[in-house]
Amino acid sequence: MKIVNIESFPIRVSNQSDKGRKIDTKNINTAMLANNELSEKADSYETENKSDTKRHLEVKSMDSYETIIKDMGEYYIDDGSNTSIYSKSHETTVVKIETDTGIIGWGEAQSPVSPNTSATIIKDIVTPLTIGKNIFDVEAIWHKNYAAKRERGHYTGFYIDAICGVDIAIWDAIGKALDMPTAQAMGGIHRNKVSLYNGIGGTIPEEVADQAEWSVSKGYKYLKMHLKEDIDNTIEIVTKVRERVGESIGLMLDVHMGFDTFNAIKLGKELEKINLLWLESPSDPIDIPGLCEISRSLDLPIANGEWTRTKYEMREIFEKRAYDISMPDIARTGLTGGKQIATIAELYNIPISPHVGGGGIVSIAATLQYSLGIPNFLIMEHSEQGNAVKSMFLSEPFDAKNGQYSLPNKPGLGIDVDENKLEKFKIKPSL
Ligand SMILES: [Mg+2]
Repeated sequence: MKIVNIESFPIRVSNQSDKGRKIDTKNINTAMLANNELSEKADSYETENKSDTKRHLEVKSMDSYETIIKDMGEYYIDDGSNTSIYSKSHETTVVKIETDTGIIGWGEAQSPVSPNTSATIIKDIVTPLTIGKNIFDVEAIWHKNYAAKRERGHYTGFYIDAICGVDIAIWDAIGKALDMPTAQAMGGIHRNKVSLYNGIGGTIPEEVADQAEWSVSKGYKYLKMHLKEDIDNTIEIVTKVRERVGESIGLMLDVHMGFDTFNAIKLGKELEKINLLWLESPSDPIDIPGLCEISRSLDLPIANGEWTRTKYEMREIFEKRAYDISMPDIARTGLTGGKQIATIAELYNIPISPHVGGGGIVSIAATLQYSLGIPNFLIMEHSEQGNAVKSMFLSEPFDAKNGQYSLPNKPGLGIDVDENKLEKFKIKPSL
């Protein structure tokens, strides 16, 4: 069953269309957007509550740190820190493949910023490498495409995203060709439903607690806070959220690589008093010895790894047990790479909690199949707030219910893309 056509859809979907979204410029988080009103509230809160008792040796609590939101049109960044660039809209690259038997497969190369870059790589390099190949050679295709740029050092980043977008589309086509869920085609279904945690964030304790309460009202039993605050503010927000939702709700915390090693340990020891399920991305991921030190120093589990894309990156991390929970992002690893990472993690008794973050609805559907189809799955990331925006080009909604996704009753990834709707979100080429 040969691949006869590959097409990319670099898309931008305005977040303004999602009425339920909580917005806060100062929370640099893919689930959030610029909003002046809340930004002013955050400023006044900071002034009123500025404490003179902070004695931590961390830049965020010392006077040299300043949040400076730089608006670049479509994108924005906190120019006062070394952090990620974000889009004001939902951006990604949706991939379509077609076989000689007329089967259509959908994939996604996660592109939270500059989807045209992934689309160009797919058009100029991955398509000519892949056209004419049999969909059932999917793993061989991944390896051939990876090897095609290996000598030039393209081990991660946009190139791997591009080949993984095509990989996911091929796995969708395989499921449809065999009339079974992709998870079954990949080796078997381990469970019929998966638990999700909902993402919340902000800078004001009451605001974050409001989001937590709202998420619980939607049926979520697990919540993850995205915070980019200093130690004192982080503890204050987490404490407020814990007070609001009670002890029966599982809480995780993602600090987006915000701390050096000693402050991450200091924060972790405080968090251990509040009963969190994990501390995520505490420090610079390149510093594997530092991550080992953090993991050894805390009883609190460390979750990490959303930026990793291939099995080759995972060897040292797993061998040294640099963290406790591995978080591959399927729209960066592909289903082929994600499954390989899960298998290696299983050797080290490390559970998998797949990252979704900025991924769109095809990424979510692929991550669900992945979560259904690996033995060491723990819990899957989700954004209840972002799902309506991400689903706008589907024929039918693909929503979680009561904090869970169930095995879809359709073959492949279990979603139907409406190509006419998708075309409306396509952006023009950059050059
Ligand atoms: Mg994260």
